[in-house]
Amino acid sequence: MPWRETRNPYHIWISEIILQQTRVEQGREFYLRFIDEFPKILDLATASEEAVLKAWQGLGYYSRARNLHKAAQQIVQEMGGEFPHDYDQIRSLPGIGDYTAAAIASFAYSQPKAALDGNVKRWSSRFFGIQTELSKPAFSKEVLPLLQVGIENSGDPYSFNQASIELGSQICTPQSPRCESCPLQTDCFAYTHGRVSEFPKVTPKKAPQIWNLHFLALRWKNEWCIMQRPAKGIWASLYEFPSLSCDTPEQSLPDAWAEALSSSIKVLEHRQSTHLLSHKKVQAQCWYAEWIDPVISPLDLQKEGRFLQNMSDSNNSEVWISLSELRRVPVHRLMDSFIDALPT
Ligand code: SF4
Repeated sequence: MPWRETRNPYHIWISEIILQQTRVEQGREFYLRFIDEFPKILDLATASEEAVLKAWQGLGYYSRARNLHKAAQQIVQEMGGEFPHDYDQIRSLPGIGDYTAAAIASFAYSQPKAALDGNVKRWSSRFFGIQTELSKPAFSKEVLPLLQVGIENSGDPYSFNQASIELGSQICTPQSPRCESCPLQTDCFAYTHGRVSEFPKVTPKKAPQIWNLHFLALRWKNEWCIMQRPAKGIWASLYEFPSLSCDTPEQSLPDAWAEALSSSIKVLEHRQSTHLLSHKKVQAQCWYAEWIDPVISPLDLQKEGRFLQNMSDSNNSEVWISLSELRRVPVHRLMDSFIDALPT
């Protein structure tokens, strides 16, 4: 992987943030594109937030992109534009937790800081026979000092963390770990006690909450109505067709929209899509419609406060843009799929 061939802390940082919630194969392409667009910290710091979000489009978890942007600005304004060397300073940057700080410190500067990601947690829970649940903070408190002794004694922090992460991802895998080829086999608690299947200790995941969400893709004079989502919460500050959450998965235009707009719009198409977020399952319906009222325009209703601003999840005002502009603004993945399916 390209980020394993560099000691550049900026590049390592970008790759680690991308890989937090993205598979390696998908992350590789994004990493190369992102580094190409923002080759240096200064390029990222001086870009607009909209440009950074657009470059992040498709990766999800947009707070990662916002934090990257904020941290780059902090490095330029407060640290002379040079990526910090010190673990605590790295850890203090927005969006950088214990694992990422340790990964950057060891991979870029060979500092002995043990990195504890999901892969490392899994092999170490088996190797040390840790009874504490993997997701609990107590687990990290228990295992980190043990790993820290290991990395300090290794004499090669870079290789220690690389090998530790690789061991979890390639050998001590979630299902059917390859104990027969594991270099830790003889000292592994779970293996030597024949209890590999008992570790790690985990609680079953709760079923995701269902979120019924309607979108109205409304065209008027060859322009589309969009709104910016609120600055906080899911998909913060991204653009989308006006959306409205509903309690039930009705297969009809939400009442609020039907009552206010049904005589002025004509529904052209209806699409359904399911989208998974970390704790929610979005059951989305997109209503593609055209403004047909020859007497009253959407702008008239907007002026009177009777348009979608007051009938949507966002209270930002409506904006009308062409299809080419629509393709340039930062949007979430679900919205992107609805744009791709726009009727001609
Ligand atoms: S011996 Fe098996 S269970 Fe133990 S660390 Fe290696 S792969 Fe994991």
